[in-house]
Amino acid sequence: MTTVLAVDVGGTTTAAGLVTDAGDVVTERQLGTHAKGPGTVRETIESLIESLQRDAGARPVGIGIGIPAVVDAEGGIVGEEAHNVPELAGVPLARLVSERFGIPAFIDNDVNALALAEWRFGAAKGARSLVVLAPGTGFGSGIVVDGRLIRGAHGFGAELGHVPVKFDGPACWCGGRGCLALYASGRGIAEAARARVTGAGGGALLAAASGEPMRIDAPLVFQMAADGEPMASAVIDDACRALGAILGIVVNGLNPEVIVVTGGVAVSLVALEKRVLACAAQYAFKRALTTTKIGIVPGDKRLSMRGAAALALYELETRRSSR
Ligand SMILES: [Zn+2]
Repeated sequence: MTTVLAVDVGGTTTAAGLVTDAGDVVTERQLGTHAKGPGTVRETIESLIESLQRDAGARPVGIGIGIPAVVDAEGGIVGEEAHNVPELAGVPLARLVSERFGIPAFIDNDVNALALAEWRFGAAKGARSLVVLAPGTGFGSGIVVDGRLIRGAHGFGAELGHVPVKFDGPACWCGGRGCLALYASGRGIAEAARARVTGAGGGALLAAASGEPMRIDAPLVFQMAADGEPMASAVIDDACRALGAILGIVVNGLNPEVIVVTGGVAVSLVALEKRVLACAAQYAFKRALTTTKIGIVPGDKRLSMRGAAALALYELETRRSSR
């Protein structure tokens, strides 16, 4: 049985497991990402790998690590934009981990890894092309076309969360303007709602947050919108339209077989699926949209970890075949 060691580094929790090439999780462990103090992500990753390797029966063939950042996967180096794990910025993590544990190690953006998991083990199994849209706190995405992960020349490929969906929209935290993430990520939805309540007397939405704008989060906005509260409804209306626009961009731009909408926000989007698809119909070619398999699948921490396993298996296979 072929196994790999898989690590999904999150902003708060890091999950690791011994995973078979069929995607079955043999053993798994979790640690707080900064359990050993600030700036200790690498120690967390290595101690999880060490304990799993110690308990593994047969020797795992590789290590995959998903990281919430832009990653130079080819060079195995974490990018400078590592806001969730700043101590890893510029670190040649793949080489360091590989040298320490004596087996090949590979790193990539966590949603690229998730796309490989959906493709290898999940909703897009057997498809040739797939796009994963993952609104969570931020907005990640991953693209597989003709059986290859699209990373772009410098690791910025598939950053669809920062594609502009409103060309005269407000400034985004990425430095751009009118980005999808401003309208459809957890952070974007919360910030848009806070801006509305402070500008217009607050209403029921502010009252539901005990009068404190900072207590407004995306789940509350979704819930208040479902109850018909006007400010929350306007924010969620924007979220649905922005998701419709990105579905139009993806369908017309790439025409993938499968699109999976997942991530932490997806659980709130399931009930809005019809509305999101109706918005997409305003932007996408009709026949292209109706022939695309689109699913909204609530985010799953375990699948992210299996994504890191899929990454290791994908790299071992593609690097072997390109030799
Ligand atoms: Zn942006």
